[in-house]
Amino acid sequence: MSELNLKHIKKVYPNGFEAVKDFNLDVKDGEFVIFVGPSGCGKSTTLRMIAGLEEISGGDLIIDGNRVNDLDPKDRKIAMVFQSYALYPFLTVRENMEFPLKIAKLPKEEIDKRVAQTSRTLGLDSLLDRKPKALSGGQRQRVAMGRAIVRHPKVLLMDEPLSNLDAKLRGQMRVEISKLHEKLGATIIYVTHDQTEAMTLGDRIVVMSDGEVQQIDTPAHLYDYPINKFVAGFIGSPQMNFMDVVINEKDGKTYLTVGDDNILIPEKFATRIREKGYKDGDTVTLGIRPEDLSDDPEEVANHPEAKVKGKVEVYEMLGAASNLYVDCNGTQIIAAVDPSSKTKAGDVVELAVNTDRIHLFDKDTGRNILVEVDPDTGIVIEERSA
Ligand code: ATP
Repeated sequence: MSELNLKHIKKVYPNGFEAVKDFNLDVKDGEFVIFVGPSGCGKSTTLRMIAGLEEISGGDLIIDGNRVNDLDPKDRKIAMVFQSYALYPFLTVRENMEFPLKIAKLPKEEIDKRVAQTSRTLGLDSLLDRKPKALSGGQRQRVAMGRAIVRHPKVLLMDEPLSNLDAKLRGQMRVEISKLHEKLGATIIYVTHDQTEAMTLGDRIVVMSDGEVQQIDTPAHLYDYPINKFVAGFIGSPQMNFMDVVINEKDGKTYLTVGDDNILIPEKFATRIREKGYKDGDTVTLGIRPEDLSDDPEEVANHPEAKVKGKVEVYEMLGAASNLYVDCNGTQIIAAVDPSSKTKAGDVVELAVNTDRIHLFDKDTGRNILVEVDPDTGIVIEERSA
């Protein structure tokens, strides 16, 4: 498997539309990288440029030290698994897997060996003589993966491979793909718009929006230190709550005021926002993850200066947790609370805010005020808790 470097890659379609702008990424050998972002943000275009299915308009694509921009797709030693599976309907599972090896003119013994090995890895042994129409969606997807990995590609690309499957199967296949990556040590780039897939599968995630890379980081670091409001809102489910608040300096303390609620913030954050030039009376956007709000009466009593109040509009019981949808000063927020909570729809509830885990964003630019970004690499280097 292989290393891959994308340097200032861009794509301008013939109609002049700039679908990918200045994409930079170094993928390490054996790394599992996810491209995630809303529909139309340029994920598939980037993947297709790597595969050679789409011309690169600018920048360098490097595989194992060699620039491959102008190399034919078949010579890039890259395999791609598509959402649609793209299996040959008239060929059996075995023939589907043999096909790319026959095209590559491998000797019969080598073909037999690789197909047997791949079939064993993916649990396809009992299906080898079936045609695709006699397979379930999950089985078809496994065959599509088999047909890709049987070629021993340097890089395996996957474009929304699970989106045709139902939720349960998607969960199972996610685990299978993780195991497969472990087993093969393959370098994988995987496109999805599903943040759960991104969080659970990726060593690193590239979050994209409107053709631009927003942030590249590990799932945990992205979750805790999003570079801006877009990433903060995209990563995490239910999504982060946002509300506009006014900075309020009183008696040497810093509060965030929204309606009648005043939230006292830790001194380390107050110092940070002052350093960044924000002052008393300025409006900023507060971000609170649903799990950082609690309706536990003891928590609320213990945090008299860190709570918000609102009316519960909907109570959603999920089993392991419950979601409260609360109208808080005209903004709907979600609190993920303990399922033993006594709160009901219609109640006016107080929610304790875990102020050590709040996020603050510039109201206009959406930039995260509490993190520092390395100007050269764009990587978040200073942590909120520092
Ligand atoms: P999805 O999740 O919906 O597949 P995506 O992030 O993969 O979205 P792309 O398919 O890469 O998005 O498309 C990026 C942008 O480029 C979109 O706005 C799309 O409309 C545009 N686009 C794609 N193909 C072409 C084309 N041939 N000509 C012009 N614009 C295109």
